[in-house]
Amino acid sequence: MDLSIEETGELVAGFGEPRFRAAQIYKWVHQKGVSRFDEMTDLSLDLREKLRGLTIPGNLEILARQKSKDGTAKFLFGLQDNESIESVFLPHDYGNSVCVSTQVGCRMGCRFCASAMGGLVRNLTAGEIYAQVTGIQNDTGKRVSSIVIMGSGEPMDNLDHVLKFIAMVTDASGLHIGSRHITLSTCGVVPGIRKLAAYNLQITLSVSLHAPNDLIRDSIMPINRKHPIKELMGACSEYISVTNRRVTFEYALIQGVNDSAGQAEELGSLLRGMLCHVNLIPLNRVQERDYRQADRERVHRFTHILEGAGIPVTVRREKGADIDAACGQLRRRAIKDRV
Ligand code: SAH
Repeated sequence: MDLSIEETGELVAGFGEPRFRAAQIYKWVHQKGVSRFDEMTDLSLDLREKLRGLTIPGNLEILARQKSKDGTAKFLFGLQDNESIESVFLPHDYGNSVCVSTQVGCRMGCRFCASAMGGLVRNLTAGEIYAQVTGIQNDTGKRVSSIVIMGSGEPMDNLDHVLKFIAMVTDASGLHIGSRHITLSTCGVVPGIRKLAAYNLQITLSVSLHAPNDLIRDSIMPINRKHPIKELMGACSEYISVTNRRVTFEYALIQGVNDSAGQAEELGSLLRGMLCHVNLIPLNRVQERDYRQADRERVHRFTHILEGAGIPVTVRREKGADIDAACGQLRRRAIKDRV
């Protein structure tokens, strides 16, 4: 599950077979969900015999599943070392998307985020990220056409595995999802953004901004002390000029913290003239924290001011409000139940 198509080619070459067999194996594993070599009927009997001793780990174990009335479904997957991760299935009119986790836990420490509590346990491998997509596809029977790398963990903190995952998931012999249907969300790890820009992958970059100035951002997102807003905006501008892609800024409105009219104006001036779009998110309540979701009037006012400043803005529809759809909440509950 963890091999890129090139690495699969090397594996078969090691058995004295031509590398193009890799594409055949990839199709069986990633498109058809077959994990036994003797079922791969277009491989020669001889090769199937040679590969018989190898096993491809099957699907991740589904430890829990929560379905929302709106079709959103959250999955808690078990890993081989008994850790667990969350992924979300999101049906849309234009296709289905999956939100994948990239790490077990997270070390970024954002104050409002459930994934950050308990810190980082470990990075996921590319195969473990991929298996969330195929696991959900197999379980729901629905084809996934877009991916948001926006689950638990900071993708820039595990960038090599995330880049490998992107290469695997876009491969024509794999799920063949177009780069433009992939979104990567970061809390603002500047060197990661610059590295990603250099690859010019055409994926959408989403930046979790959540504050219009360093004073507020420092108080809710520790990463800002390392890479303040000016530096972050510089890296985003570089991403835009290299890729020509519009950047999304995520902004969760927290009552009394970042949702005032003055802060909306400040955000408007910060982003004016940039090829970007703001996604206002209703904050998901996290049990252990006392941050509250901004009320409707404040959301309206904030939206209105941004629009007035000429910034394209959308208010994210709240999906899965009746399940633990916020990152990390289901896993935290499972951990608590265990102890
Ligand atoms: N580490 C990456 C991706 C994972 S977090 C990042 O920070 O972008 C995915 C998104 O969920 C981020 O925008 C994050 O700020 C947001 N988020 C975290 N906790 C939230 C909460 N309680 N309510 C709403 N959004 C939250």
